[in-house]
Amino acid sequence: MRVPKSHPRYESLVRREKLVRAWRAGVVVPEGLIAHGRGEAFDYLLGEETSAPALVAEKAAAAALLLATHPVVSVNGNVAALAARDVVRLARAVPAAIEVNLFHRTEGRVRTIVRTLERSGASHVLGPRPDARIPGLESKRALCHREGIYHADVVLVPLEDGDRAEALVKMGKTVISVDLNPLSRTSRRASIPIVDDVTRALRNVERFVRDLRGDPTETTRILRTYRKSGNLRAAHSFLEWRLEKFSKTRQSAGGRPRTRKVRR
Ligand code: ATP
Ligand code: MG
Repeated sequence: MRVPKSHPRYESLVRREKLVRAWRAGVVVPEGLIAHGRGEAFDYLLGEETSAPALVAEKAAAAALLLATHPVVSVNGNVAALAARDVVRLARAVPAAIEVNLFHRTEGRVRTIVRTLERSGASHVLGPRPDARIPGLESKRALCHREGIYHADVVLVPLEDGDRAEALVKMGKTVISVDLNPLSRTSRRASIPIVDDVTRALRNVERFVRDLRGDPTETTRILRTYRKSGNLRAAHSFLEWRLEKFSKTRQSAGGRPRTRKVRR
């Protein structure tokens, strides 16, 4: 289907199209489509743009990646479908390793996702020959690479499951999550939860990486002053503010609330 540019929900429809195409290509599983639906609902509530608290977390994430000894970006089907190019750009900017890590793992799907990333410019993508396990997880969900996620000190896990995010934290890693649901276990367990859409988040983190690179004092300061609990509280307050605003606007004009623009 061709989505007309004039459609008010153009970007959201394009994303859905990308996911359906990726599902046909064997990159995305049906469960991934359901997970996207949950993300979309939160994006709608949050105003479909980066909030101020998300921007703070994105900057802290950039600092953590820059200060890491062994940073890794973990990629699953939805991430490959929606943001393969953005993953590759960010990994190059840091630089960080890329590892395909699937919740619903089949070897064929790992290979297809590796190819998708390679077509977007990646080289040496980890994932196809795992030689380690994340402790505390059962089945294939635990598989990972020794030279990738297993030995990473900082892992960026966009759209991760709460269980695995928690297992990675227990391994002593700094876990950066990207999840539009500020209430999910992933957001609560991660060391630096980013409550934003995956494409916007990866682009913002990359921009901050480029801004901060070459300024280690500022990079260290950003990470030192970041507070997860305060930032998540701000994300929750932002959602509350949006809902309050929405009910007021509905009473007076019957429309969608105007979003609070983020100034940078
Ligand atoms: P948890 O296991 O963390 O409690 P969950 O089981 O509800 O959460 P999962 O299915 O494990 O969720 O992971 C999918 C998560 O990814 C959802 O919380 C959803 O909000 C989020 N998500 C889906 N699409 C996007 C997107 N495009 N950008 C950011 N987050 C997204
Ligand atoms: Mg889950």
